[in-house]
Amino acid sequence: MLSKKMQKTLNDQINAEMYSGYLYLSMAAYFSTKNLGGMANWMTIQAQEELSHAMIMYNHVNERGGTVELKAIDGPPVSWQKPLDAFKDALAHERKVTGMINKIIDLAVAESDHATNSFMQWFVNEQVEEERNASDNVANLELSENSPQALFMVDREMAQRVFTVPQPLQGV
Ligand code: MG
Repeated sequence: MLSKKMQKTLNDQINAEMYSGYLYLSMAAYFSTKNLGGMANWMTIQAQEELSHAMIMYNHVNERGGTVELKAIDGPPVSWQKPLDAFKDALAHERKVTGMINKIIDLAVAESDHATNSFMQWFVNEQVEEERNASDNVANLELSENSPQALFMVDREMAQRVFTVPQPLQGV
């Protein structure tokens, strides 16, 4: 059984993952308006991943006999000065999410909630990948900032990304 405090924390995290989905979908829409279809594709898939993260947590709250409480989702920004700024925001956002994940584990440890601690380890590893992807993107955009040709190449590479269902949702 989840403690009331853990239930609230996980519900807040469901909301945060949903917001992440909103943020990346908003970035995807922005890239579409700039005719950067590859970047739009990359961010659309990122948004799908974030909604999957919310579902993984939703399932955990249900499985542990908790009550899922869905809250209003904040509206994300709708435009950025330039593509690099969006990717910088994405990196800052992922660093913030990593901090939130770590706080959930701190609480799980304090409450001896081993099930939530074990469950959250998948997210710890996921955040390592999320931060690496986000910082790779920033680096690539910085390199191509003054070269339309390089930006075109980065965009074309980002068009290759495909969505795969995250492991905890496979077979669910
Ligand atoms: Mg996430």
